[in-house]
Amino acid sequence: MKGNIQIIKILKVVLLTFSFTAGITFCSVPVSVWADEPLVIVIDPGHGGENKGAQYEGYIEKEMTMAVAKAMKEELLKYDGVEVYLTHETDEDMTIKDRAAFAAEIDADFLFCLHFNSSASHTYFGAEVWVPAGGEYYAQGYSFAQIVMRDLGDLGLYSRGIKTRLNNRDDNYYGILRYSTYEGIPSVLIEHCHLDNEKDEKFYRQGPEQLEEFGRLDATAVAKYFRLKSESLGADYSNFPVPETEIPSDIVRPDRTEPELCQIEVTEINEETGEVTVRMEAEDEDSYILYYNYSIDGGNYYFMPETWPRPEVWNHSLKELEFTVKVPFDKEILLRAGVCNGFDLWTESNIVTIAPIPDPVRLQEELLRAKEEALRKAQEQYEEIRYEEQQPVTDEDIRKERVLLLAVISGIAALMVMVVFFMVKTTFVLIRGNKKR
Ligand SMILES: [Zn+2]
Repeated sequence: MKGNIQIIKILKVVLLTFSFTAGITFCSVPVSVWADEPLVIVIDPGHGGENKGAQYEGYIEKEMTMAVAKAMKEELLKYDGVEVYLTHETDEDMTIKDRAAFAAEIDADFLFCLHFNSSASHTYFGAEVWVPAGGEYYAQGYSFAQIVMRDLGDLGLYSRGIKTRLNNRDDNYYGILRYSTYEGIPSVLIEHCHLDNEKDEKFYRQGPEQLEEFGRLDATAVAKYFRLKSESLGADYSNFPVPETEIPSDIVRPDRTEPELCQIEVTEINEETGEVTVRMEAEDEDSYILYYNYSIDGGNYYFMPETWPRPEVWNHSLKELEFTVKVPFDKEILLRAGVCNGFDLWTESNIVTIAPIPDPVRLQEELLRAKEEALRKAQEQYEEIRYEEQQPVTDEDIRKERVLLLAVISGIAALMVMVVFFMVKTTFVLIRGNKKR
């Protein structure tokens, strides 16, 4: 059994056409060509009137959903064989029940409910699609959600997943999905992105014109799902490979338990830069890992969540991640990480203690200071020696020197007197000797 509405419709038509022509393969027959009745699409712009929805720094959800809804309608009307209605065209209050009732009244084939997300901590980001929790509505919603989620991903949005949510009566938590299901209308709720997060802000910051891009994206996803054609757009999705989803035998329940595994180990410490490489392992058997974050004070303060590696298939995640943390120097670090599953449930990891990494700048400064100190000391010692050498001559020294000089001069003078005396004496003796002869 195939859950897609188009498959059901195709089967209906195959039965119809079979009586006329044998051998027509239903797979190649586009819905828009064979449909005897136009495809009826209802777009529900989330919130309205007093019910403003999420608000953050001037962004108001009800205004954003209306901008997207109108652009979605305009784009969808370019396709053949489609009728498009908005649950409300003006800014007004409308109960969820009335929205579903409106869709039922016009015999809608599908209801698309448009929203923008926000989180209490303003730290979450990405797109998600909520689908009815059971039966063919689950299968149809899930098939469409895969198409729109792929397109949102291509736009650059992070996929938070395709999910179900239940109230305490095990019924769909979101009223629009609950009442649409009661009315027998397939439905999905698209949370395009978070209007309170800087990571997502680039997708709506430019205002209504940028929001219209979401509307065109949603319309194209609908065209792909229903295999529509548009001459004016030059688009033909007749053979679009719509993902198949099996009709679940039971309610598809959301994950209500935290991730079972969250473990970290430090694999490298760069003493120069203070960069610490962390290997992380995380797993959630019931769903998938969505975000991770980390703390350097043992879990008191966590930095902003980051994306966890996930293959293109929604609702799956890889088991390992490696990331680097720039830690402050000269401080003991108590490294701890956290992981969040697709249902916003967190698990904290073990704590890894990292001994203070000496600040290289401080070390260099200290080395420089030590060198300067040593140089200063050496200079001081040198000065001291010179000082001693250059001690001024005292009067005593002068006196001593003078006495010494006087003694030397006296000695020399005495010697010279003696020499002269002997020379005179010798000369006298010689002269006397000559006279006697
Ligand atoms: Zn909302």
